[in-house]
Amino acid sequence: MARKALLISPERCIGCRGCQTACKEWNHLPGTKTVNRGTVENPPDLTPYLYNRIRYIETATEADMVRWLFVSQRCMHCGDAGCIKICPAPGALFRTKEGAVAFNKEKCIGCKLCVAGCPFDVPRYDDKDKISKCHLCYDRTSEGLLPACAKTCPTGAIRYGERDALIGMAKKEGYGKVYGEADLDGLGALYAFIDPPKLYGMSEKPAIPESVVFWHKVLKPLAYIGLGGAVAAAVLHYVAFGPKKDEEVKKDE
Ligand code: SF4
Ligand code: SF4
Ligand code: SF4
Repeated sequence: MARKALLISPERCIGCRGCQTACKEWNHLPGTKTVNRGTVENPPDLTPYLYNRIRYIETATEADMVRWLFVSQRCMHCGDAGCIKICPAPGALFRTKEGAVAFNKEKCIGCKLCVAGCPFDVPRYDDKDKISKCHLCYDRTSEGLLPACAKTCPTGAIRYGERDALIGMAKKEGYGKVYGEADLDGLGALYAFIDPPKLYGMSEKPAIPESVVFWHKVLKPLAYIGLGGAVAAAVLHYVAFGPKKDEEVKKDE
């Protein structure tokens, strides 16, 4: 099956956050209490119960006018996914036939190593210490439905389809460079930017941390030879981050 992706176009986005709500509805994610920070951007970050967030970026035009950029923050469904690379629990994170990176909470052991492996700070943990993030609606797309966020977006700022066709479409629309076209073996969330990625709050060159690459190549297979998933995770955690700090130990208790 040809790899599928989302094409996100901030220039088309009106910041209505219909996509945020649709995602919560489809995934039965509860609302969480937030505080008024003097902005309509809400919540201030991804949470275990918010897989897609619209960031409101205020910038200035050359004529000193305000320019708003609305950018969807979510899992990027990396072709080379640091989260899958470092995860010591088989099946907790997996690649779907559409090319998305999905998860199985039943198999997640709550080690949080995927946080260290992700170049985009995406994975979050729910109240049972299980991974939570966008799964590209593989439960819908496998049935021929659009992802809930893409289906809901009234302006076409989130489009879903064959990845190559989306890249071709963005280029035809005049976007010279599509963010995510080649990085990390190609992202499954592509962005049509007219300005450098930095303006949209994105890293110019996202990369998996070297320690994760090392683990994947050398130590993870060794850890599996004689250790179960939870023990391997503890060893991996120790070598990747060092001993747990007091507060971290307390929080985990
Ligand atoms: S963005 Fe992070 S969580 Fe999503 S696939 Fe890439 S490494 Fe994994
Ligand atoms: S693809 Fe599905 S899970 Fe991902 S942000 Fe959109 S609605 Fe949420
Ligand atoms: S639904 Fe579409 S227009 Fe509305 S915030 Fe989401 S991406 Fe933007």
